[in-house]
Amino acid sequence: MAKIDMAKFAKFCKDMGFIYQSSEIYGGINGFWDYGPLGVELKKNIKDAWWLDMVRNPPPGPDGQEIRMVGLDCSIIMNPKVWVASGHVSTFADPTRKCSGCGKFTRADQLWDILRTESEWMDSLLSIDLGAQSVNQVAFTLGWTDFSTLRKWVRNTGPKVAKNLAVVKNPDTILKNFEELFRTGSLIKEDVFRFLATENVQATGLQDPCPACGAPLGEPKQVSLMFESYTGLDKTDDSKVYLRPETAQGIFVNYRNVLDSTRLKLPFGIAQIGKAFRNEVTPRNFTFRSREFEQMEIEFFCHPDESMKWYQYWRDVRKKWYSTLGINSSNLVPREQGKEELAHYSIGTTDIEYMFPFSDEPQELEGVAHRGSFDLTAHAKHSGNDKLNYFDDDRWQGDSAKRSTNSFKEWLKTNPPAEELEKYQFVPHVIEPSAGADRFTLAVLCEAYSEEEVKDAKGNTETRVVMKFHPRLAPIKAAILPLVNKDGMPEKAMALYRSLKPHFNVFYDDKGAVGRRYRRQDEAGTPFCITIDGDTIKDDTVTIRERDSMQQRRIKISDVRGELFEAFLPK
Ligand code: ATP
Repeated sequence: MAKIDMAKFAKFCKDMGFIYQSSEIYGGINGFWDYGPLGVELKKNIKDAWWLDMVRNPPPGPDGQEIRMVGLDCSIIMNPKVWVASGHVSTFADPTRKCSGCGKFTRADQLWDILRTESEWMDSLLSIDLGAQSVNQVAFTLGWTDFSTLRKWVRNTGPKVAKNLAVVKNPDTILKNFEELFRTGSLIKEDVFRFLATENVQATGLQDPCPACGAPLGEPKQVSLMFESYTGLDKTDDSKVYLRPETAQGIFVNYRNVLDSTRLKLPFGIAQIGKAFRNEVTPRNFTFRSREFEQMEIEFFCHPDESMKWYQYWRDVRKKWYSTLGINSSNLVPREQGKEELAHYSIGTTDIEYMFPFSDEPQELEGVAHRGSFDLTAHAKHSGNDKLNYFDDDRWQGDSAKRSTNSFKEWLKTNPPAEELEKYQFVPHVIEPSAGADRFTLAVLCEAYSEEEVKDAKGNTETRVVMKFHPRLAPIKAAILPLVNKDGMPEKAMALYRSLKPHFNVFYDDKGAVGRRYRRQDEAGTPFCITIDGDTIKDDTVTIRERDSMQQRRIKISDVRGELFEAFLPK
């Protein structure tokens, strides 16, 4: 996909009210983000589309049969034994290196990637004109809470490792008004941030500098990614709990409850959307790697003999879902993980990756994993509950003529061979499509963003920024615009607005020239603008302008609702 200037893009997202830095007025907090008025609608539409398309109305299964799927909403804090059984307490960790200079931690397996990305972001940041606040915002996005790390680097580490750089030779002048120089001067760009780029790192012979300060990094160590808290007033090891790092385990531990309360039969799925927390070592690339995020996960339970069929089914269904919501399929790359990458319990995993504009490599949007019977077996073992299996009553009843008794208990007393027993009672296999709501929101924002050269009313060329969201995902569905604020137009427009408001997120705008109002809606990604003009008063027709083509048609005011319903139906 075409590269987007990510610094400019983050600023655009803030200015438009898609995404803000969390607690910005206090300097923010690294790895946490807030969704503004447009962003919250966009993300909600994404979650609603997933819920409708996967839970309430999933596509038919490989044999054309209906898919059985139900939802859950589990607590974020669970009994900590859940995380012992799932393996998170012992293995949910990243290889991490501590800096010998500033003490910050860096992911050992992603260092070169971080260095390259940061220098690219800096290049783009410096190429555009940003206010002071935006400079901070972008630096923040990169993972620096402020510029003091650079000051320290120039004073302490720079002289040791890069004494010939101008900024190191002459720190007082350069640091005098640091932010001002950063925005305007090429010295910082040339001397410091380029230093972090691969070629300069190699030129200085320093192989593993800290991306924050440039000092050497220590040996890699595994660091747990789980956030810890305590229940009750005593903060002891016994009251320690974790914020869930994924929603999946809530589903596994409720498997028996769902089975008993719904009488579902295999194959069936349980779905959940909810917050997850990971104390990521290096949150970065805007919201791509955050410390608090939302997941949309399905655990699909099936007979072991049918698991490969379902694994393939979910891989295809999930990839297709992204393209039906406007993601160009050339930007979507399903990647089957190699044997060496697979989690020890996984029989196969496909990452559905997206070509984010901040990276040269596609990055994971969703993982579709064949988890075998690992999770239910582990929870059965750790909880002592032997009921986390499945009894195939249909098959048992179907084979009744072959046996002397119809009581399973009695039959067990005859010591049937294991392969006979497993025909009726077994631990289901699980296919897990696990998607990130925030990552997909970021992908949708990147995919939608486009700049076009258009002619204004006077024939001059201007740049139109337009968010080409799929209509189902667009935060605002239609804008209602009275051409002028007189001659009965506002009343007509308000009446239309009120009749649409219960059904769609519509926006009423009567401020400024109509051309400027169109541009504002283009930037918000609103698919339709409906204008009430002099003719509306005479013949009850309106113009409907389509966002991408900018074509305008006249339709009857009474047809507006029906046209919008048609345009926003899932297809
Ligand atoms: P990564 O390799 O990028 O760390 P992962 O393989 O650990 O991701 P999973 O545990 O498979 O991710 O989580 C499922 C999905 O949850 C991911 O595909 C992604 O969309 C989302 N996700 C995971 N970690 C984060 C994060 N730190 N920030 C935002 N979304 C995330």
